[in-house]
Amino acid sequence: MATRRPVIAANWKMAGSQQLGEEVLEKFKLLPSSSAEVVICPPSVYLDSLQQQLSKHSSELVNHRISLGAQNMSHQEFGAYTGETSGAMLKEFGCSYVIIGHSERRRMYGESSDIVADKFIMAQKMGLTPILCVGESLAAREANRTFEVLNGELNAVLDKVGIMAFDNALIAYEPLWAIGTGKSATPEQAQEVHAFIRQRLTEISPFVGEKIRILYGGSVKPSNAADLFTRPDVDGGLVGGASLNASDFVNLCR
Ligand code: PGA
Repeated sequence: MATRRPVIAANWKMAGSQQLGEEVLEKFKLLPSSSAEVVICPPSVYLDSLQQQLSKHSSELVNHRISLGAQNMSHQEFGAYTGETSGAMLKEFGCSYVIIGHSERRRMYGESSDIVADKFIMAQKMGLTPILCVGESLAAREANRTFEVLNGELNAVLDKVGIMAFDNALIAYEPLWAIGTGKSATPEQAQEVHAFIRQRLTEISPFVGEKIRILYGGSVKPSNAADLFTRPDVDGGLVGGASLNASDFVNLCR
């Protein structure tokens, strides 16, 4: 069986500050090491200062693997797209990862599955690793349509990029009813869906299915993280609210 290094990604959303970045790095400096790979996804205006802080403290953080990620990017390469940020720009400011298709983007900004797939392609073209978010609504879960919704969201990307593109991607399972609600999926519910996603990919490519890291997101906090993250198909988390408190976030990573 493949060993998958866990990933804990912080999604600050439209919150946080330059100071939060400093606080988080200060806390990591006090930890001897962390087994998880940590990805911090601040609002894009903070990427520059975080990148500088990371290089300033690099010698004290050698036993940690902390990368930067963005929360969104344009599916276009460059040009007259007011308000957008390109993958190349994110790369220039030190990003290795980018969250693609977060449900808040799909729901509030009308990002279709087609656009999500285009962003996935552009991210990889620019040398960024996409963290593809998928998840069902409460109504879909109650109507027993969870797997159907997830299949649809996965297929929209798979059909365009092909399975081998997932060799360099992460998936985040984020049930909409658990995001920001304080009501996390149970570890059993998360494991069931993660196993389903892995199985779907394994059917097409056992190599990719075994290797891909699938994160859980939705009201992850220090009190439920260990139980969620020790499930066999849960390879870490995408953490929103709890990532805005430096102590909570670093505790989670531990
Ligand atoms: P939450 O957000 O941890 O605040 O529920 C997770 C996310 O939306 O990525």
